[in-house]
Amino acid sequence: MSFNLATALRESRRFHPDKPLCHIADLTYTYAQVDEASGRIAAALRGLGLGPGAKVAVQLPNVPEFLFAYFAVLKAGLVMVPLNPLLKAPEIAYHLRDSDAQLLITFEEFAAEAVKGAELADGVGTYVVHLPGSDRHGAGTRDFDELYAADDTGETEPTSGDDTAVLLYTSGTTGRPKGAELTHFQLYMNCTVTGEVFGYRTDDIALAVLPLFHVFGLSSVLNMAVRHGGTLALVPRFETGAVLDALERHRCTIFAGVPTMYTALLQADTTKRDLAGLRVGLSGGAAMPGETIRAFEEKFPGVAILEGYGLSETASAATFNISVEQRKVLSIGKPIWGVAVRVVDDTGAELPPGPDHVGEILVRGHNVMKGYYKRPEESAEVLREGWLHTGDLGYQDEDGYFFVVDRKKDLVIRGGYNVYPREVEEVLHAHPAVAEAAVIGRPDDRLGEEVVAVVSLKPGAHTTAEDLAAHCKRQLAAYKYPREIHLVDELPKGPTGKILKKELRARCPR
Ligand code: AMP
Repeated sequence: MSFNLATALRESRRFHPDKPLCHIADLTYTYAQVDEASGRIAAALRGLGLGPGAKVAVQLPNVPEFLFAYFAVLKAGLVMVPLNPLLKAPEIAYHLRDSDAQLLITFEEFAAEAVKGAELADGVGTYVVHLPGSDRHGAGTRDFDELYAADDTGETEPTSGDDTAVLLYTSGTTGRPKGAELTHFQLYMNCTVTGEVFGYRTDDIALAVLPLFHVFGLSSVLNMAVRHGGTLALVPRFETGAVLDALERHRCTIFAGVPTMYTALLQADTTKRDLAGLRVGLSGGAAMPGETIRAFEEKFPGVAILEGYGLSETASAATFNISVEQRKVLSIGKPIWGVAVRVVDDTGAELPPGPDHVGEILVRGHNVMKGYYKRPEESAEVLREGWLHTGDLGYQDEDGYFFVVDRKKDLVIRGGYNVYPREVEEVLHAHPAVAEAAVIGRPDDRLGEEVVAVVSLKPGAHTTAEDLAAHCKRQLAAYKYPREIHLVDELPKGPTGKILKKELRARCPR
């Protein structure tokens, strides 16, 4: 059966053509405008000779052109390869070669690196989105505006639901970045099911600061809004003031972010802000500390933080806490409709419920990727009998709620005992002076690994490493509490705002 994810845009446009689909600063684009711009670009891409299944890399921040390019690629039956704008030339070349991309669409600010990367990848053609007022000179590139020249034929390529729509690059549990192949159907289902369960409304306005090149932003912010007829307030990069301005100015009702973004908003002075319309905070991408939920909901009354869990490989959500009434704080919720989750031990045997039965989390269902593009061995390693092996450790409780205790590779084994960093981080977060905390293992000759915490403090707060160690010691078994605590101004974060434990480990040699 013919099916294309871009149908979501066409359907929503039919119901409310003049409704804003996205705002950015002073600009607004309606559903009809985004549909038409993407229709023109789709025609232009076809005119360039790109046939069904050809790959187009799109390296844009959260700007309206991301939406135009994305829906154009889908409508033309091509495959979208979203890339992080901050990649350097050799990384861009790697992604272009690995994905077989035939075209690169990038942003003026990042064009110099992109052009070098495209040259390294045998001269992939590059189109540049320019800022208004720019002089538009770029050696070896073409102007993105040229792609608007074609007429919108209104046609959408009759792709099948099983055709790949997006190659989403992720390191997965190991190795170099790989392209998770997500289909039209998987992406359509994920935003449909997730949005329906928490009651996404057509008058919802979602703040889009999570990068749209990442699964959480692409599927649970962009696709979700388009599918359910909502509106986006685009913010190109996370900066507390800019986020608060956009939340207030556009009267956002939904905020979607990783936990570190909630922590940043918690620390901001919002006394003069009117954020009364905010009703839902979607959280995912990393473990949400219980203390952050409590403090955030106290600071912003009327907001319900709903935590979900998923991976690039699961087209965004695999599990979700669907409402305040039905959520369990610290849990990632229950599997979404049509998805099964189980916890297995090292032999692959399913474990019974209970916090003492921690094993690897497996996911099966409509949301699980086809595989990693051109990597049959790595795909077979993580996809066994239809079950995606997530590399995350967790357990299920008697009520069917799942809990992530940590990533397998973040587990610290101290003197033969398993220490789940998340448990220690929860205790540190409960200390009144702590803003952010990350716990890692440092290689140790005697114990194998030693537990080390890296902590940043709330503005104006004071405490010492000794005080924090004593606080942990009071609440944790002797083998778990951090023997070493480093106080830092800020923890290193990746493009989505997740704390980079790999970098912390590199900074804390034995
Ligand atoms: P990515 O593919 O970049 O989205 O990363 C997926 C990984 O993020 C998962 O394998 C988990 O380790 C982590 N993750 C996502 N959601 C959660 C959550 N709610 N709690 C804990 N870890 C999470």
